[in-house]
Amino acid sequence: MKVLIQGGRVVDPHTKKDQVCDVLIEDGKILDVAEKILEEAEQVINAKGCFVMPGFIDLHVHLRDPGLEYKETLETGGRAAARGGVTTICAMPNTKPVIDTKEKVEDVHRRAKEVSPVNVIQLGAVTVGQNGKELADIEGMAKAGCMAISEDGKSVMDSGLYRKAMRLAKENGIAVFAHCEDINMVEGGVMNADKKAKELGLRGISNAVEDVIVARDILLAKETGVKLHLCHCSTKDSVTMVEMAKKDHLEVSAEVCPHHFILTTDDIKSDDGNFKMNPPLRAKEDVEMLREGLKSGIMEAISTDHAPHAAEEKNCSFTKAAFGIVGLETSASLTYTYLVDKGILTPMQMAERMSYAPAKILGLSDKGSVSRGMTADIVVFDPDKEYVIDPADFASKGKNTPFAGWKVKGKVKYTLVNGKVVYEA
Ligand SMILES: [Zn+2]
Repeated sequence: MKVLIQGGRVVDPHTKKDQVCDVLIEDGKILDVAEKILEEAEQVINAKGCFVMPGFIDLHVHLRDPGLEYKETLETGGRAAARGGVTTICAMPNTKPVIDTKEKVEDVHRRAKEVSPVNVIQLGAVTVGQNGKELADIEGMAKAGCMAISEDGKSVMDSGLYRKAMRLAKENGIAVFAHCEDINMVEGGVMNADKKAKELGLRGISNAVEDVIVARDILLAKETGVKLHLCHCSTKDSVTMVEMAKKDHLEVSAEVCPHHFILTTDDIKSDDGNFKMNPPLRAKEDVEMLREGLKSGIMEAISTDHAPHAAEEKNCSFTKAAFGIVGLETSASLTYTYLVDKGILTPMQMAERMSYAPAKILGLSDKGSVSRGMTADIVVFDPDKEYVIDPADFASKGKNTPFAGWKVKGKVKYTLVNGKVVYEA
């Protein structure tokens, strides 16, 4: 089966091509990218006025499956991804049960193939049941296709044990994705430690809660040589430390989520649980540093930390609410509106941060590029389409977002996975 994407602006970070081109796909692979392709195709997609980018790769997603299917499933999460132009997602292992064995990884991969329209890469936990005491079957999970291990939701506080996990990850050729939070320093905090928290009478989480672990993890990566990826960075000092690690030629990468590069603690107007996430929304100077880091490439990936919850778990006060917001269906529009349209990133850099760099971090050599021979995971994105974010439209079971009612610019028009249209606006 041949598919032809006609007349779109191909933005490809791998070949650095940025020009109006046709893209010909056959049997799931990109056959040709050229100014005018005359070949007949069974399906023709009109991409006039749109970007044709490599499908987005979201390194940080909570699919809640198995065990918490009332929040999300492999199917609803997969459909949400497709709506957001995301063609590959990394599923975090903090499900019920925790994904900590080869068999559990294989189970998710098998079920995802049946029900998810997008590629799902299950990540494995660092410790058994995320108990922080005993290492999970890292070798077995790596063999089952885990491209990284992560204790996301918490940090492994025992540095000795964590170092052992890093050595094993390195031996098995996989990365460590780090959630950086010193649990002994949280002290019941629910939002950023600042004037606003005092005003609202809420306990604060200081920047050091994150920074202490960022520093530790970089030092451990330096000693073990493991590939370290820092999740959902929210502080200015995390950017400084990632920059230092890169100057030191360490294999350290970092991601930033849209809520952290758009919102500050000042956007929290009342004690509304929909603004509760971990790490929390920070100060203006943190947001500015994160944006600069994304611009310079120190922070090379944009991920969502998509964290769906039931309505009653979020529509309540900060103290009662669960941590996290959904992001799969709003990430591309928010990135375009707040980074590209405002001149912070070029469209090419958007494709780099959302697809090419994540593919590199995972070691996926056939993804992250719209060029000959690559797997045809592609997003057709209309940069001129304006719309208002309405959670009622989400495919995700989670409707919890602080961006409800926000007007954005740029919308996904088509998402293709393996050359097949899995979403059409
Ligand atoms: Zn996390």
